[in-house]
Amino acid sequence: MSAQLIDGKAAAAEMNARSLERAQRLREKGVEPHLAVILVGEDPASQTYVRSKEKACERAMIRSTAIRLPGNITQEMLIGKIRELNEDRSIHGILVQLPLPAHLNPDEVIEAIDPRKDVDGFHPVNMGRLSIGLPAPVPCTPAGIMVLLRRYGIDPAGRHAVIVGRSRIVGRPMAMLLINAHATVTVCNTRTPNLGEMTSMADILIVATGHRDTVNASMIRDGAVVIDVGINRFEGKLYGDVASDAADKAGWLTPVPGGVGPMTVAMLLSNTLDIAERG
Ligand code: NDP
Repeated sequence: MSAQLIDGKAAAAEMNARSLERAQRLREKGVEPHLAVILVGEDPASQTYVRSKEKACERAMIRSTAIRLPGNITQEMLIGKIRELNEDRSIHGILVQLPLPAHLNPDEVIEAIDPRKDVDGFHPVNMGRLSIGLPAPVPCTPAGIMVLLRRYGIDPAGRHAVIVGRSRIVGRPMAMLLINAHATVTVCNTRTPNLGEMTSMADILIVATGHRDTVNASMIRDGAVVIDVGINRFEGKLYGDVASDAADKAGWLTPVPGGVGPMTVAMLLSNTLDIAERG
């Protein structure tokens, strides 16, 4: 293996320590940072994610309120609940755990969140602000990747960044952040012909497809920075979207687990504190 590992666990631990200090400072000023997390239904993965967010908040002295709603809730009732949280001055951040049950419209639900409380940065207003380079809460996973790049002295300016995946939570905001950081950006999707030709041109390669082994060593330029966003569970183990032989070719690589994942929750805490500090 030649790639140097990008240690997301260590980076997240540092950020979380800073978040704890920030929360303590806010509390000294009489402000209790407070995140509301809405979970609809019984999806086991979503329940696990919400529990890990609650625990992370607790460790950082951020109050969290998980609002668990039945899977058959109507769109109107869910939006009504969000409006209540929008009005509640004690709550700084609101997050709706995705995916929602199929009968609910996630676009309308996200749009109901007050953009100022949108800790996930998924509201169209915040996506728009990000796309034109204005300050906005930034979706946690791509924001965490930018922190990792900075921590390891990897400046995207002047580099070719190739992103595989164009989802709203990873690929698209990642593209905006890298454009804002002066990279030349290519975004691939399932209709991209000859994916390997594209990925081989990347100085910085971000892979977020949700499929194991989407990218392997033969598709990577020697010495490239490879960020593996994928989380795929198989026979009780976690795998990324990048094959293990990538380590022989990449210059830098995020491991799975222990790469991008820990940064996502760390950024959620940081986004919540940004809003609470703004008052
Ligand atoms: P989505 O399913 O929403 O999007 C996947 C994207 O990848 C789509 O744009 C799809 O293209 C594209 N894609 C899929 N297969 C290929 C392929 N073979 N070639 C080119 N493009 C492809 O997934 P998410 O963005 O939500 O998540 C991606 C991965 O990241 C998942 O493994 C997820 O678990 C993980 N994840 C990890 C997080 C973390 O904290 N580490 C946080 C969020 C996600 P098209 O648009 O054409 O369908």
